[in-house]
Amino acid sequence: MSYGYIKIGSEEKAFIAKVEEISGQNVYSCYQCGKCSAGCAFSYKMDKTVNQFIHLIQLGQKERTLDANTHWICASCFTCTVRCPREIDVAALMEAVREISLRENPEKVRIADLPKESLEKLPNIALVSNFRKKTG
Ligand code: SF4
Ligand code: SF4
Repeated sequence: MSYGYIKIGSEEKAFIAKVEEISGQNVYSCYQCGKCSAGCAFSYKMDKTVNQFIHLIQLGQKERTLDANTHWICASCFTCTVRCPREIDVAALMEAVREISLRENPEKVRIADLPKESLEKLPNIALVSNFRKKTG
């Protein structure tokens, strides 16, 4: 995927630094091999694949990163973390982006706003997982 010419200035660097601080990972360790995306059971639901998502972080593209659904679809199964040849804890990157998103917009996902029919259909584990994402 090409994003054209992107200047990595102070805002971009601040976003990269924040993701790295929260996750404890070096995003530039990633060499875009795509193994994380290939092993993710939820890739088909993501508008940016896992490695595309990491590429956005490497470029400091905060808005595009937060706008993606990738970190919300992620189920924190750690398959990507286990598969990464660079030993990057990819799941921790997902968690870091969720945290940044929720710090900026704590009301992004409100359980109270979910329709009753969805609450009846959703398995308990999905709700617990959602709460964990929101409070992690
Ligand atoms: S598996 Fe690791 S190195 Fe490969 S694209 Fe994913 S994060 Fe990057
Ligand atoms: S931790 Fe998230 S991104 Fe990684 S393989 Fe599991 S669901 Fe996919």
